[in-house]
Amino acid sequence: MSTTSLRYPAHPPSTPLKAVAAPVGVVIVGAGLAGLTAAEALRAAQFNGPITLLGDEACGPYQRPPLSKDWLLGDLAASSLALRDPEKLLRLQIDMRTGVAVASIDRQACHVVLGSGEVLPYAGLVLATGSRPRTLALPGANAPGVLTLRSPADATLLSKGLARCAAQMQPLVVIGGGFIGLEVAATARSMGVAVTVLEAAPRLLSRALAPVMSDWFAHLHRSHGVQLLLGAAAEQLETGPDGWVRGVRLASGQLLPAGLVLVGVGTVPNDALAQAAGLPCDRGIVVDACSRTADPLIVAAGDCTVRRQPDGSLLRLESVQNATEQAKGAAAALLGQRRPFGTTPWFWSDQYGHKLQMVGLSAGADQSVPIGDMSGSRFCVEHYRQNQLLAVDCVNSPRDFLAARKRMDQPNDVLPVGS
Ligand code: FAD
Ligand code: NAP
Repeated sequence: MSTTSLRYPAHPPSTPLKAVAAPVGVVIVGAGLAGLTAAEALRAAQFNGPITLLGDEACGPYQRPPLSKDWLLGDLAASSLALRDPEKLLRLQIDMRTGVAVASIDRQACHVVLGSGEVLPYAGLVLATGSRPRTLALPGANAPGVLTLRSPADATLLSKGLARCAAQMQPLVVIGGGFIGLEVAATARSMGVAVTVLEAAPRLLSRALAPVMSDWFAHLHRSHGVQLLLGAAAEQLETGPDGWVRGVRLASGQLLPAGLVLVGVGTVPNDALAQAAGLPCDRGIVVDACSRTADPLIVAAGDCTVRRQPDGSLLRLESVQNATEQAKGAAAALLGQRRPFGTTPWFWSDQYGHKLQMVGLSAGADQSVPIGDMSGSRFCVEHYRQNQLLAVDCVNSPRDFLAARKRMDQPNDVLPVGS
């Protein structure tokens, strides 16, 4: 393996940091998808200096998407979540340390301080600290039976709670009609649990989808027996004599009985470390298209970031593709290369056996054009603003989705004449 030096854009070219000659290498904070991808991308780029991957969870990197889908049904083994065999990390000489939290960053001294007090110097630092569920500041929001979903431990609690609701015929109330809420609602229905979804906005998935697709999802959930309350705000979570949640009180005064409540109202980026170290943050660590922060030795990737757009605005994406792409860009940036985020964002969701795949961002669309029959089980919808293609949503049409991704990566697609 040849040696690749760590070279940073702002470093004087006369002082490149030779990774092999120096014991100081790259430290990665956060052993999730973004952290793992950054470590592997450094090795793929022939960087063979030390890489330390630090994660505060008990286990190594794992995938989160199954946690709101099949995993809740208990069909998948815990080991199926693992993203990488630890043997492979050993072979790549990635020093992964689990159960280790980074407490602070000293940018002057170029080191991080662990919770244990141990000091680890870095020549390059990757921040990949992810995000955590937003919680509700409401009376009763911390009661037993009120859950959020981020980790396998959360999913195990939820899975057990759903099984109990199914056995005791108690309803689930979901607060938040976003991806987590709707995927869990679909899973709960397949277990025979009665479900009510409360969404504060007037439509479902309003940040991710155009109105026509929000309506399609609303119809899908209602047709599976979900009670949807749109534009509805929870005011209090009421508990029974045993302290367990027994219902959600709405601002209207109505009480929705509940044996379990899932709160899926978005996430908060874990940017406190970066903020304390004086890095610019704005509901996430601010990075450019190449995952660079304001400090030339520090890059950031994944859910903990917000990306500066060419027009100056900030874009926060929380998805597998975003974590992967930004992490590859971060590794390249530490090696003095430019790998700007170049592909169109894409996402997917699985609900009631339907696969929704989305490419592009439909916010601001002024026209949505269905391709195929939206009352059938397989169709696409193209979203345009001023005749320019912004996004394509595909339901059960993986080939059309692949074609749409290719098309979206070519700019200036315009609305066909006569549409
Ligand atoms: P994370 O996976 O959160 O990893 C960050 C890690 O850093 C965590 O382990 C955290 O504990 C650790 N950490 C934080 N602070 C410190 C510290 N100070 N010291 C050490 N370690 C620290 N996306 C999709 O595209 N499609 C889906 O279908 C989909 N489904 C999802 C379902 C669920 C239930 C959830 C929760 C998310 C889903 N996502 C999905 C989103 C996707 O999983 C995330 O965008 C992705 O995991 C982000 O990866 P990350 O590495 O940035 O963050
Ligand atoms: P989300 O997609 O942001 O959805 C949260 C929803 O809850 C939003 O519609 C939000 O409305 C609404 N909400 C906020 N406060 C509320 C309140 N007090 N009462 C009722 N509704 C309220 O976040 P999420 O579903 O919690 O998902 C968390 C993370 O997991 C995200 O990073 C998400 O991308 C990821 N995830 C992704 C997938 C996927 O891609 N398939 C699946 C699961 C999870 P406003 O927008 O108006 O605030």
